[in-house]
Amino acid sequence: MPATTLLTKIDSYLGEDRADFVRRALEFATEAHAGQSRLSGEPYVEHPIATAEFLAERRMDATTLVAALLHDVIEDCDVTREQIEEQFGDDVAKLVDGVTKMNSMDVLTRGDRANTTAFTINGDSELDERAARQAASMRKMLVAMAEDVRVVLIKLADRLHNMRTLDAHVPERRVAIARETLEIYAPLAHRLGAWDLKWRLEDEAFRYLQPREYRSVYRLINRKRAEREEYTERVMKILQDALDEHDIQAEVYGRPKHLYSIYQKMQRYAEQGRQFNDIQDLTALRVLVSTEEECYRVLWIAHSLWRPVPGQFDDYIASPKQNMYQSIHTSVMCEENAPVEVQIRTRRMHDLAENGVASHWAYKEEGDPNADDDFEQRMSWLRQLLDWQRELEGDSEYLDTVRTDILRDQVYVYTPMGEIKELPSGSTPLDFAYRVHTDLGHDTVDASVNGQPVPLNTALKNGDTVEIRKSRAPRGPSMDWLNPDLGYLVTASAREKVRAWFRRQRREENVQRGRDLLRRQIRHLRSTTPEEEIATNLGFESAEELAEALGSGTMQPGEVVRGMVDITGETPELQPEAADEGLRDGVVVLGLDQMVTRLARCCSPVYGDSIIGYRTRERGVTIHLQTCPNLRARDEPERLIEVAWGHSATRYPSRLQIDAWDRVGLLRDLTAVVSQEKANIHRIHSSEQQAYGRSTVELTVYTSGVDQLTRLCARLEAVPGVQSVQRQGAG
Ligand code: MN
Repeated sequence: MPATTLLTKIDSYLGEDRADFVRRALEFATEAHAGQSRLSGEPYVEHPIATAEFLAERRMDATTLVAALLHDVIEDCDVTREQIEEQFGDDVAKLVDGVTKMNSMDVLTRGDRANTTAFTINGDSELDERAARQAASMRKMLVAMAEDVRVVLIKLADRLHNMRTLDAHVPERRVAIARETLEIYAPLAHRLGAWDLKWRLEDEAFRYLQPREYRSVYRLINRKRAEREEYTERVMKILQDALDEHDIQAEVYGRPKHLYSIYQKMQRYAEQGRQFNDIQDLTALRVLVSTEEECYRVLWIAHSLWRPVPGQFDDYIASPKQNMYQSIHTSVMCEENAPVEVQIRTRRMHDLAENGVASHWAYKEEGDPNADDDFEQRMSWLRQLLDWQRELEGDSEYLDTVRTDILRDQVYVYTPMGEIKELPSGSTPLDFAYRVHTDLGHDTVDASVNGQPVPLNTALKNGDTVEIRKSRAPRGPSMDWLNPDLGYLVTASAREKVRAWFRRQRREENVQRGRDLLRRQIRHLRSTTPEEEIATNLGFESAEELAEALGSGTMQPGEVVRGMVDITGETPELQPEAADEGLRDGVVVLGLDQMVTRLARCCSPVYGDSIIGYRTRERGVTIHLQTCPNLRARDEPERLIEVAWGHSATRYPSRLQIDAWDRVGLLRDLTAVVSQEKANIHRIHSSEQQAYGRSTVELTVYTSGVDQLTRLCARLEAVPGVQSVQRQGAG
């Protein structure tokens, strides 16, 4: 009997009635899947059984287990929703329905019908279509999940079992499934506080996505295993003895570490130039006790046995993390003077930490009155999924929003009324305003954080209180808010709301606004490519169409540079190997190694411009813009030589002219922007025309190339009072 483990497990914690309910579902599933087998050859029913078993180990309620057993019958066995409802009730039917909706995206995991290519390649219409289908089903899944979290718990357990039997698929599909697991499912598990699931999913995905790295971490863990285990046993015993002496009933474990988290730790160490020590870094202890008070007594005992490592202590019991996590973490200088991490928590906290929302249902079914503690508030992000369902039209916009706004690390900030809002880290007061209400976002004038006025693109920190001031009359968003270089909006949901606002404006207004943006960009970079040609190069029918795209926010001004043929020259990415040799001032001279080169002063080309070399009599090769008038005037084609930008940290000078209304602090603000960009100012000169109150500032800056120059111009132009920024030619 393949389901023995499941049956033993349910009998251990479900009442007789509920256990019978699960048994009935097991019979139903076995019958429905009779004769079907998986790619790996085993009977199909083993898959739903394994899925249910995983959930039973987390003591999930019977309804969830029944739905897990039946999760594939609608799709694969011609069973209808009505039949399930009739036999197992409405709750089960809803859950199965939810999981089935999510299944449609699983063409990938389900076998042999679709073709075998990976799904994240651009430019192929069939693949695009598949990506669109995937976004649509993903949206359905997220909405189904928001209605009942148990749907996604079943789905995650289903995915974990599929990951474990992935070897039956062709390699391309394995990688596609693994990537989706790492990008969507593991972060979802993380958000649900289901660490155990998260780590398992990550380790499985890691194995397929980075097999070489996986094997090397695996080998590392096995190396000196005996020695390490001996050490762990020894320190566990010392701690256990001390606890016994103090009459504390506790379980002490050597904590297993997950391969993927070890790999990430090794990478962090490598970046910091530190050495990974396989004994110290792979040893960790966990102590489980009954009460909070005992946690603190254990802490005291651990600290009196071994000296604590300064700065390595966190009390998540007194101040729990928002995602439900409670525990005490400390590091001590253990035996042989090795730092060892110790985690201390109650068994209940442990259960919550390992299983997250799953244990919420387990406690609820057992009638624990504390089960609903804070649960609603902690899960408020689920409601967000439903709000967006109403607000966002496109499926891929919806998916992007979930990716950036929900699956990333979060900060928690307060409204002036003390209500908590949860936003992805890096979010600004403007993101906050849009999260509170779309209209509040559109009409935001300024903001203060903890009582201090701040720019709208300030990054918020945990615990900040944010207050938004709105205009009296509706005024609509600014186009600048969409420019990623200016950093006003981090959340995809807010960006989409701004774009939607502009899409609703009159076409002529958008075209006009777009033309202004286009001309501004041409001015910034001093491009000589005609507007119509830029439009054609970018795949638009006309300059007007390009202007409309810019003016409605579907395209960003920064992207225009790709259509300027005189600006986009050879890019270094095409020849990364050329970095070391034959390189002077970041310029590679094709065909002529070791040539001395320098940048022409007349046209000051910057990294990324289309350039040409001019062979001088004594001083090697001078690099000019291809459009440099000085060069054209010479008419000595035999001296011209083809050159390309190399890969180096060289900086390029550009002269910028800034026209502004004169005011106190203008120069300070301009130089602050340049230094924030980490560009260097070589020369600055300003002249005031007192009669008009205008000021002209000339600035020579060193940037790393066209990309940085574009960004810098946009930021300078956003400084209050600035009218225009213009790159200058030969002086
Ligand atoms: Mn399945």
